[in-house]
Amino acid sequence: MSADKYYTLAEGCPFASSSTAVLMRNRQGGGLGLLQDTQLIETLAHFSRERIPERVVHAKAIGAYGEFEAEADCSDITSASFLNKAGKKTPVLLRVSTVGPESGSADTSRDVHGWAMKMYTDEGNLDWVFNNTPVFFIRDPIKFPSMNRSHKRHPRSHLPDANMFWDFHVGNPEGIHQLLVLFSDRGTPKSVRYLNSYSGHTYKFTKEDGSFKYIKIHMKTRQGVKNFTREEATKIAGEDPDYMIRDMFEAIERQDYPSWDVFVQVMDPSEAENYRWNIFDMTKVWPHTDFPLRKIGKMTLTRNPNNYFADIEQAAFSPSTMVPGFSASADPVLQARLFAYPDAARYRIGVNYQQLPTNAAKVQVYCPFERDGKMRSDGNYGGDPNYVNSSLQPTKFYPEVKGVSPKSLALHTEHEKWVGEVTSYTSHITDDDFVQPAALWDVIGRDPGHQERVVENLAGSIREVKSPNLRNEVYALFGRVNQDLGARVRKATEAAIKK
Ligand code: NDP
Repeated sequence: MSADKYYTLAEGCPFASSSTAVLMRNRQGGGLGLLQDTQLIETLAHFSRERIPERVVHAKAIGAYGEFEAEADCSDITSASFLNKAGKKTPVLLRVSTVGPESGSADTSRDVHGWAMKMYTDEGNLDWVFNNTPVFFIRDPIKFPSMNRSHKRHPRSHLPDANMFWDFHVGNPEGIHQLLVLFSDRGTPKSVRYLNSYSGHTYKFTKEDGSFKYIKIHMKTRQGVKNFTREEATKIAGEDPDYMIRDMFEAIERQDYPSWDVFVQVMDPSEAENYRWNIFDMTKVWPHTDFPLRKIGKMTLTRNPNNYFADIEQAAFSPSTMVPGFSASADPVLQARLFAYPDAARYRIGVNYQQLPTNAAKVQVYCPFERDGKMRSDGNYGGDPNYVNSSLQPTKFYPEVKGVSPKSLALHTEHEKWVGEVTSYTSHITDDDFVQPAALWDVIGRDPGHQERVVENLAGSIREVKSPNLRNEVYALFGRVNQDLGARVRKATEAAIKK
């Protein structure tokens, strides 16, 4: 604290002490409070309002700042400015979280880990809102709330509930690929430093000539993938529920900076037409042999937050936060997230959440057609026109200032032609949905003892299911991936129940 700093109330009025109350006191030592005690009343009232709503999902997290460094000039595939020169550096904020459990929960519990990364580029912010798994549980966006509720607490018992978890997944079996990842060793990563992250969705790299490529993004840890076993993760959850936060915070404090290599898989739109897999179905990967990884950069974390609430809790991420050269694909779940994520931020933080320092772009922001609202903290554009097409004070646009084509802006969608029909659509499971999970089961088989651990991890959860019929349906679901897997899960689960 500097020598001339002194204690005040929030309005700046100085007070002599931070620990007194104005009371009408009696001889026995009691005291009645007075409404005129602004200091006491404001202190209590502010405390009652210290929380903003906890995220419904992704509540427990750690975050840090760092930088992305472009590996090469990528202007052959994107006009994105942060990728147009080898060695170009862009500041980054990363927030990694579990999904289902609350903010106070154990961060080593088996769960998908969310990866929310904000790049403060020289053409505005770009958010990559990924997971540590390359696929997802659903591909129909309306199932998003149902899936998440089934992974959280039961509405009656308020307990995590294996019955509703497995009931959801038997009824919505397209998640089988993701379930296999979740119950593999990668479901319990040994801290944030040792996990990979994946875009999951297909995105697009666009160019100023209006052309585009489909891409999937992979971020691979340079520390190597390391995981806990189920037993280790459970033990640490009891002993140190904040293990993963501590691990990364302390590594950055001792300047042992974690880093990730960043790759893209690149697909021409003509290849997507007849590809073996629907590239807008996020339960599927693009096999590496079909689309090899191309390195585009490296991301390194170098600084812990100064204040967790200001820097991380108030941070808001959304796949709709995009820069020229980067664009959304027609993946229906991604399309829904483009709406749902900023909507959650408006509810959780407020309509002017982009003005908070941790969310604010590091480039000039001039957005005079979004005005007013709660907690406006800039000048609100003074007397500038708050309506479009003013002749009194015309607005300039990026293409005319920079002398480029309007197509250089990613959010312009002239590069795609659409012919389709409006239809009520729900996806249906087919045998094809079990091909990639079966390939993963083989990948897991390359690692000695890993298949056995997957079987035991599954048995440890399925044993909690009360209904024998539901248990049989779960065994059948895994049996469709691989008959031996289904039989082993049945045997291990029934043995665990008898114990
Ligand atoms: P490859 O043999 O080229 O790749 C297999 C990949 O599996 C590895 O590169 C590794 O991804 C990943 N992997 C290893 N263990 C696990 C695990 N326990 N959980 C999740 N992923 C794991 O084969 P293909 O590309 O043909 O894919 C075969 C299967 O591998 C897929 O069906 C999919 O389940 C899985 N996979 C594929 C990815 C892809 O983008 N093609 C990405 C991740 C998994 P990494 O190198 O990223 O660590």
